Amino acid sequence: MLFGALEAGGTKMVCAIGDEYGQVLEQTSITTTTPDETMPKIFEFFDGKEIEAMGVACFGPVDVRKGSATYGNILNTPKIAWRDFPIVQNIKDNLGKDLPVGFDTDVNGSLLGEVTWGAAKGLTDAVYFTIGTGIGMGAISGGKLVHGMLHPEIGHIKMSILDGDNFKGVCPNHGTCFEGMASGPAIEARYGKSAKELENNNDVWNLEAGYIAQAVTAVIFTLSPQKIILGGGVMHQKQLFPLIRNKVLEDINGYIDTKELRNISSYIVPAALNDNQGIMGALKLAALEIA
Ligand code: ADP
Ligand code: ZN
Repeated sequence: MLFGALEAGGTKMVCAIGDEYGQVLEQTSITTTTPDETMPKIFEFFDGKEIEAMGVACFGPVDVRKGSATYGNILNTPKIAWRDFPIVQNIKDNLGKDLPVGFDTDVNGSLLGEVTWGAAKGLTDAVYFTIGTGIGMGAISGGKLVHGMLHPEIGHIKMSILDGDNFKGVCPNHGTCFEGMASGPAIEARYGKSAKELENNNDVWNLEAGYIAQAVTAVIFTLSPQKIILGGGVMHQKQLFPLIRNKVLEDINGYIDTKELRNISSYIVPAALNDNQGIMGALKLAALEIA
């Protein structure tokens, strides 16, 4: 069966044709500018392709509540041109009103890819963090992708400021929230250099790991996931993994003791699908829509 997949990001739109096995047959990437300019290029890619359903994993906030009047819309994103854009409706208007369209957040999409084919394969309870331009987290709990009132927004939880850190943070809403302190742009604003250029500066990654560990520990104590996957551009700094694992154990401080925590290097892990987790997850969203 052929499915369409769209990984809608603030910087680029990845479009693909693939199948129910997560195999991508054809793929392209389109720069994200405005809906008027970007969407027609997406439709050009899908034009004439015999897809049975489409899956969209989209940057947020988005309305993923089925039955809501604004279901399928991008909500109050700071990317003004996309604010309130009805992306699912726009896809149906252009690719066929009867085309089934599965829709979820970008992070739930990546998590779904990893749960179906990757690092969390077969698990019912797992989370996927992206630490990139923004910070977000997708969650599956009891086998269901978590939405709830809207969807989780862990990037904006309050951080305990670490000793000696005077940085004011970059989040326009909260200053020193998780995203304000630990996103790629936060690292760049704090040190005046790109995160990549800071590769050999241990202080940078110790502090970064300290903030990431706070959020990971909060999720261990709230959702009790069976696996924690850390993805996104900043996590290309592989030295972060052991630092984060150690700090999580310090933060838990012996309060719980499980086989997962005793084998923490296979509990807190990188994504396993070579940065294809998002587009593969979007394929799965399409498949689920007609399941
Ligand atoms: P996005 O979040 O826009 O979808 P990414 O997940 O690639 O995209 O995140 C981009 C952010 O990650 C940038 O702020 C950049 O500084 C940071 N980043 C990208 N590559 C690296 C790297 N190798 N090391 C550290 N930071 C990186
Ligand atoms: Zn914030």
